[in-house]
Amino acid sequence: MINVENITKTYKSGDVEVEALKQVSLTIKQGEIVVLLGPSGSGKSTLLNVLSGLDTIEQGEVEINNQPISKMNQSEKTKFRRENLGFIFQQYNLLQSLTVLENIEIGAQLSSDPYNIQDVMDIVGITEHQSKFPYQLSGGEQQRVSIARAIVKKPNILFCDEPTGALDEATSINVLELIQQLNTSFNTTIVLITHNISIAEIADKVITLNSGKIVKVEAQTRKKASLINWG
Ligand code: ADP
Repeated sequence: MINVENITKTYKSGDVEVEALKQVSLTIKQGEIVVLLGPSGSGKSTLLNVLSGLDTIEQGEVEINNQPISKMNQSEKTKFRRENLGFIFQQYNLLQSLTVLENIEIGAQLSSDPYNIQDVMDIVGITEHQSKFPYQLSGGEQQRVSIARAIVKKPNILFCDEPTGALDEATSINVLELIQQLNTSFNTTIVLITHNISIAEIADKVITLNSGKIVKVEAQTRKKASLINWG
């Protein structure tokens, strides 16, 4: 469960201040798929960074599973993030000099009780590529590796920042199907950023941001990724 109470985040550069989040409150339940939707600059990445403890806030509170992440010191936060949170980004952030298997091993080493690496590679469908280097893989395959690296340590919550932003439509659907499958299999909470309204259909809850504020929270019946309408 993620609980956010009345948070405000201001970026200062020189004399200029940008209020990236203005009095934002929300709750996300364990096992929910939540999409953060909104135009560029609306505060989605800032909210994700604050939820995951990457960024500090001036006001308000963020609790994850009753732990006050916004009040932890740096080392407490690092430990908490390592044990509980997984991340996937638009750019896959794989280590180019390591093989697929070695990249996933790095994720596994972050946990005292990781999943079996072979099982995870089977689930995400990259077992046959395990000895290859990232540059030898397609974008979709690289994203599968980054998903494997994120989930092998059994995160409670998976934060996904435009995970299909660099992929074509068919591959995007594939990756979103995988994310839904992980959610169903492991009850992992998913918080996914997108500016693509079609992708919002995979969620149980859609939170729309504009100019640093939540302008809409909609609960809905999630659609299978394979059935979403790309228009
Ligand atoms: P989104 O993810 O919806 O595109 P962001 O959270 O990245 O939006 O940005 C929200 C606002 O905060 C924007 O006005 C952006 O320019 C500003 N912002 C984001 N990060 C920084 C930063 N590190 N320094 C200054 N301003 C920032």
